[in-house]
Amino acid sequence: MKPIELSFEFFPPKTPEGIEKLRATGAQLKALNPKFVSVTFGAGGSTQQGTLDTVVEMMKQGLEAAPHLSCIGSSKESLRAILGAYREHGIRHIVALRGDLPSGMGEVGELRYASELVGFIRAEHGDWFNIEVAAYPEYHPQARSPKSDMDNFVRKVQAGANSAITQYFFNADAYFRFVDDARKLGVDIPIVPGIMPITNFSQLMRFSEMCGAEVPKWIARRLESFGDDKEAIRAFGLDVVTGLCERLTKEGAPGLHFYTLNGAAASKTICERLALPEA
Ligand code: FAD
Repeated sequence: MKPIELSFEFFPPKTPEGIEKLRATGAQLKALNPKFVSVTFGAGGSTQQGTLDTVVEMMKQGLEAAPHLSCIGSSKESLRAILGAYREHGIRHIVALRGDLPSGMGEVGELRYASELVGFIRAEHGDWFNIEVAAYPEYHPQARSPKSDMDNFVRKVQAGANSAITQYFFNADAYFRFVDDARKLGVDIPIVPGIMPITNFSQLMRFSEMCGAEVPKWIARRLESFGDDKEAIRAFGLDVVTGLCERLTKEGAPGLHFYTLNGAAASKTICERLALPEA
């Protein structure tokens, strides 16, 4: 079996306690020898300095860290400044996204889609950055059709993406079908499944509603039936997500990218249960 490359996603903490917690999370997950960690970026300016600060902090911990960058609502000039700052800090890995505008913010910006951002980064910085893009096995909620969403994915790859991370999903068939379809269109970059550990029912349903990920009925009903029993939710969630990761890695996924929500416990337990071959 080929080594499975792990990566972990964080968001920039807002409080001193959050910063401390993330430091501890980074240290615990480092023991799993991840290929990289990534740090989200708030469209419209909410967490942009926080993204860079968090990436720098992770690099100090000896982790390869990739900031996310979204183009929606931004001018080319401001994107240029951010990319310049990333480069000055020696950052060579980036996750390039369109992003979503916070409600009430109207301006789309100079680059409308992630494919345009990838093209912009390549035009400005050549091969300096290793670029990840997003992929949607259950299709992006705003896509005109599954075909137009796949065409968009191919455009991002043709614009220069090196690798892709998917939106999370609980249906492995959707992922394998997406990868097969992309391969038929000539896409040969790694497409790494995004994994959302299940630790909280209402939060999972809220996130899934926002990003268009389907929570299968049998999972939602079981989680709902546990009510406030956090331990039961945790145990069931670990079983379900470990089973998903097992199937994904056995059937060819090149890696696993965990949406950690800044906590180490669930992602770490899943990885330990999988007993993955060393990367
Ligand atoms: P795009 O690839 O540009 O696609 C957006 C939509 O436009 C799709 O429906 C696509 O089909 C459509 N489209 C693209 N091109 C065209 C075209 N030429 N004509 C018509 N339609 C077109 N959000 C954040 O704000 N910050 C983050 O840090 C962040 N990190 C993420 C990390 C991952 C791994 C993933 C999967 C998502 C992340 N998101 C983040 C969410 C993401 O920004 C949203 O899903 C956003 O709505 C789409 O971004 P995208 O890069 O996939 O957009």
